[in-house]
Amino acid sequence: MDNMPYKRLANQLNALPNGFPPTEDGIELELLARLFSPEEAECASYLRMSPNTPAQIAKHIGGDARAMRLLLKGMAKRGLIEVHKTEDGLGYALMPFIVGFYEAQNSRLDAELASLVETYFRQAFKDMLAVEPAFHRVLPVGETIPVNIEVQPFESAVAIIEQAQAWGVLDCICRKQKALVGEPCRHPIGYCMVFSPTPGAFDHDPNITAQTKEESLETLRQAAAAGLVHTVGNHQDHGEYICNCCTCSCGILRGVAELGVANVVARSAFYSQVDESKCIGCEECTIACQFDALAMGNMSMEVDRQRCVGCGLCVLRCSHGALSLIRRPEEEIKPVPATMRDWQVDRAAARGQDLGEVK
Ligand code: SF4
Ligand code: SF4
Repeated sequence: MDNMPYKRLANQLNALPNGFPPTEDGIELELLARLFSPEEAECASYLRMSPNTPAQIAKHIGGDARAMRLLLKGMAKRGLIEVHKTEDGLGYALMPFIVGFYEAQNSRLDAELASLVETYFRQAFKDMLAVEPAFHRVLPVGETIPVNIEVQPFESAVAIIEQAQAWGVLDCICRKQKALVGEPCRHPIGYCMVFSPTPGAFDHDPNITAQTKEESLETLRQAAAAGLVHTVGNHQDHGEYICNCCTCSCGILRGVAELGVANVVARSAFYSQVDESKCIGCEECTIACQFDALAMGNMSMEVDRQRCVGCGLCVLRCSHGALSLIRRPEEEIKPVPATMRDWQVDRAAARGQDLGEVK
């Protein structure tokens, strides 16, 4: 196999703020070869974060614009690159590996791809996940916050659902991937929630079950009841999806226990607080916490505020009303980037990158 197109594409993907770190044995090239033909990889390696038309790309790298259009269309159809409307017609842009074209392979994921991803996770995800700002941030379970505590719209899963015009749900690719490598977890699979500002956007999508707003709110409630942590893209204008995650299968949250990266996910602005007078020491709440943030003290449960990500799952679990979420002091709250662009700029800076090379 001629690896050069894949090396070029891997380098270009690693130049994106999300990163696509190389590995010693080149598993990332095998991964790309599983998804892109050599011609597609060569073409994609010239794409940027902003869209370019086939004519613009052909002018830049040579070749026939018609053939280029077909190649680009084929990749866009398989969720490998993005397509956007531009003033000059349809334009195509590079997508990161995660969160990006890997998630778009949900319906094509098989045992071979799952195994390649698992190997890549073990070898390269630590480098990707340790960079801040994190890919995802935690959203608290809304009803675990006392009503007198203010919650910003971008901190609320319910607000994201309320703002959308179309709602859908599909299987979680992370739990699918772990099942395909023979390590299924106990959590339910069908809780990956997607949203769109376009009414009816998911009505004809064979891979997504379209929902009403009320059904989407019920899915959110069921996900929390199943012990899943709500997470979203780590910027305030994020509204495309809500992941319902677990530390056993989620490609991001697995980084805590398996790769030893403490900051894999940006915590919410809240933490869990114990009312000692109500705590009977049953330790039920420790079953709900996936972050080892709870431990029994002398008289009652105690919360490790450094470990607590503010998900609220322990609050749901405590039937004695001894737990509630409370807002952290301002100095403990990490600002959430306002836009996706801000997130990209901050992350590129943290990785010592010049975004000019790929934008
Ligand atoms: S579940 Fe509630 S009552 Fe039981 S230990 Fe935890 S905080 Fe205390
Ligand atoms: S203690 Fe654990 S379960 Fe409770 S809010 Fe914090 S991270 Fe979530």
